[in-house]
Amino acid sequence: MRQAVLLEPRRIELITRPVPAPGPGEVLLRVRAALTCGTDLKTYRRGHPKVPFGPFGHECAGDVAAVGGGVSHVREGDAVVPTPTAPCGLCGPCRQGRENLCERQFEGIVLGAYADYLLVSEKVAARHLLRKPDEISYIEAAFLEPLSCVIHAWDRLRPRPAEQVAVVGLGAIGLLHVKMAKAMGARVIAMGRRRERLELVARLGADGVVDTEHDDVAGRIRDLSGGVGCDVVIECTGSPAVWVEAPGWAAPGGRVVLFAGLAAGTRVAFDATRLHYEEVDIINSFHYRPRDVEEAYQLLASGTIDVRPLVTGVKELTSIVDVFASLDRGNGVKYAILPEARTWE
Ligand SMILES: [Zn+2]
Ligand SMILES: [Zn+2]
Repeated sequence: MRQAVLLEPRRIELITRPVPAPGPGEVLLRVRAALTCGTDLKTYRRGHPKVPFGPFGHECAGDVAAVGGGVSHVREGDAVVPTPTAPCGLCGPCRQGRENLCERQFEGIVLGAYADYLLVSEKVAARHLLRKPDEISYIEAAFLEPLSCVIHAWDRLRPRPAEQVAVVGLGAIGLLHVKMAKAMGARVIAMGRRRERLELVARLGADGVVDTEHDDVAGRIRDLSGGVGCDVVIECTGSPAVWVEAPGWAAPGGRVVLFAGLAAGTRVAFDATRLHYEEVDIINSFHYRPRDVEEAYQLLASGTIDVRPLVTGVKELTSIVDVFASLDRGNGVKYAILPEARTWE
């Protein structure tokens, strides 16, 4: 089998290795589609605290090729979709229903989806290996993990009817938040830099766009939000400067979701008047819980969230090096990587 391995920043090699045999509880998938993601690009550029160098790619869907001993909920030939991690179910956070903070979350992480085959660990196979909904393609199903993360944030921010939501940063995650906001009936202001993204988000239904490089951002937000600021601001850039600015774009009583993480040790300072006297709440959101995965699954299967416009292109595994070089140059939102020359199915 072929497998893409990230050896060091900006060095991917497509190696050939034996197809692994699943051990007890494990499931071997024949990969049908994998997606590139911001985490992969971050790892490609400079490494990542949670994702080691080695086989990479973690958003995928495929067919069960073989199962290890004791696996009974899926069988050979089933079309399935895993998420890369699963909680242990036993630690303190897990027992409090905060499985996204599981102490053993990243044990048994499933990496290596840019490949012909992928071995799903016992931990993930037992909890987060779901049947692919018949109604959607493998490519769409592979959005399960990023959408689960987005759903977690929406659970934390407790949406109210007819809110005004600003989404800052228009990568795949920002665009999923825009889709989610529209699905929740919100009025959406999309904020980004790149012309293609601003055009894309307008096509996805954003009610107003802000060009953060060329517009008077604060003035434009005031105009678009009727002078008061937004009920919700969702930060998806991962830039400390934008974290600091974000509460300034919220209305009094508004909520700011800091979705994109910053490097370890980063410190940011907020305007205390906004936070205290205007009760602008700061909400953080990290990863996902099993119930977020279930909700994301339903939204994908029902077509409520149509992810197809987020896929920039469908590429073969052999072009993985070029795909990442292209993403690194800032081209494209998300690519689907397929072991064979196919398109949507
Ligand atoms: Zn991802
Ligand atoms: Zn746990």
